[in-house]
Amino acid sequence: MSEKYDAVVIGAGIIGACTAFELARKGYRTLSVDKLPEAGHGSTSGSCAIIRTHYSAHETCALAYEGWHYWKDWMAYVGVTDERGMITYNDTGALVMKTQANHRLERVCDVMDRLGCPYEHVAVEDIEAYLPGVDTRSYTPAKTLDDPGFGTPTGDSVIGAVFFPRAGYVNDPKLSAQNVQRAAEAHGAAFRFNTPVTRILTENGRTSGVELSDGSVVHAPVVINVAGPHSSKINEMAGVASTMKMSTRALRHEVAHVPAPEGFTEAKGVISSDNDVHVYTRPERGNNLLIGSEDPECDGRDWIDDPDGFDQNFTAQWRTMVMRAGQRFPKLGIPDTARGVVALYDVSDDWMPIYDKSDLPGFYMACGTSGNQYKTAPVAGKIMAALVEACEAGHDHDAAPVTFHLDHIDRDISLGFFSRNREINMNSSFSVIG
Ligand SMILES: Cc1cc2nc3c(=O)[nH]c(=O)nc-3n(C[C@H](O)[C@H](O)[C@H](O)COP(=O)(O)OP(=O)(O)OC[C@H]3O[C@@H](n4cnc5c(N)ncnc54)[C@H](O)[C@@H]3O)c2cc1C
Repeated sequence: MSEKYDAVVIGAGIIGACTAFELARKGYRTLSVDKLPEAGHGSTSGSCAIIRTHYSAHETCALAYEGWHYWKDWMAYVGVTDERGMITYNDTGALVMKTQANHRLERVCDVMDRLGCPYEHVAVEDIEAYLPGVDTRSYTPAKTLDDPGFGTPTGDSVIGAVFFPRAGYVNDPKLSAQNVQRAAEAHGAAFRFNTPVTRILTENGRTSGVELSDGSVVHAPVVINVAGPHSSKINEMAGVASTMKMSTRALRHEVAHVPAPEGFTEAKGVISSDNDVHVYTRPERGNNLLIGSEDPECDGRDWIDDPDGFDQNFTAQWRTMVMRAGQRFPKLGIPDTARGVVALYDVSDDWMPIYDKSDLPGFYMACGTSGNQYKTAPVAGKIMAALVEACEAGHDHDAAPVTFHLDHIDRDISLGFFSRNREINMNSSFSVIG
């Protein structure tokens, strides 16, 4: 059996769904194929779904700020009502600690000025107004729990903080991918679940479609790899992994959900990003606090070769993160039973995403999202649609990178920044901060 489409999108996570939506809006007949049972069931479902604007580079901050506008007015973006429910976006703002490692946020604030994105400096004595019961002493550098110095302050005070009001979180990331699936379907996009792609087909030196696990074939002149932590497997299938300077790898990560300390409420809590104790937090349903790691060097990296077979149990990583947060929030209880999420990031060499074509004509990729691209998904979808349109019309994106206009913030960026063949960006934090 064989079928024909204009484009096959491999993966129906949030970025895959947004890519299908934008292509369908442009009139492409798309088929999204996912090996899992429903949209957003992969790494998107494990996302902390934090929307924030502070990154290490102008381009990544610009995408994030542009992306915020779509989450803020979700109905205007999707334009449909999903019978499964609609997400809610909680516009809490984010408090980010100034540290020497993040250059006291001076570079980030410079970028915010260039982008017209608001922020406010917060003095140490005012941090408590955002984070009730906070201990503002410094604990950096990060230590592992077996280090005798763990929990001993290394300075009387952190340097200060910056509050970014254009930040928040989405209550249900999986549902967000499903909302976009419905939006794409309203424009004629088709979705097929429980169906692994097993082969990328080629003909006359370009992509000609995919073969599925049941042996059936889907013909399409465009195939887009949005397979999340499986992106390197799909790039290998297409024979393009060895032709790129950048690589992507699956990285295992744990996220903790613990009862919120006294004074925090789900309704009032803000997001915190704390490069001094090396964790980030946000309010979580049921008056809980969500805690994630900001990837300090001392922890090492849990790289995963087989994204279908990783350990889904909590390890010492969970307790370490919670104890680090406990340095900042002395009233935080440390539960005996670990709760939260174990999931995979798809990490690029510099923790910045790859939104690009490939050396195989017709084969594209949106990958290397490095635990930090949920927030940009609506923009990433538009970028991928613009790239496909330009390259399929004969534009040589490698020689003359496509310029992309960010409508909400009225800025142009060069998509060459997200190239698979870029040099490693040494301004990166080489962490989830991007
Ligand atoms: C624990 C965690 C916390 C995070 N927190 C944040 C955050 O707070 N803010 C933020 O901005 N970002 C965050 N991220 C990152 C963000 O969630 C991801 O960048 C984003 O969800 C990736 O979406 P995706 O569509 O590219 O991939 P995925 O959601 O992983 O979707 C890929 C899909 O491809 C499918 N697939 C794979 N191989 C095949 C195949 N052979 N055939 C068919 N289908 C296939 C999979 O089944 C999967 O559904 C976090 C990520 C994790 C894991």
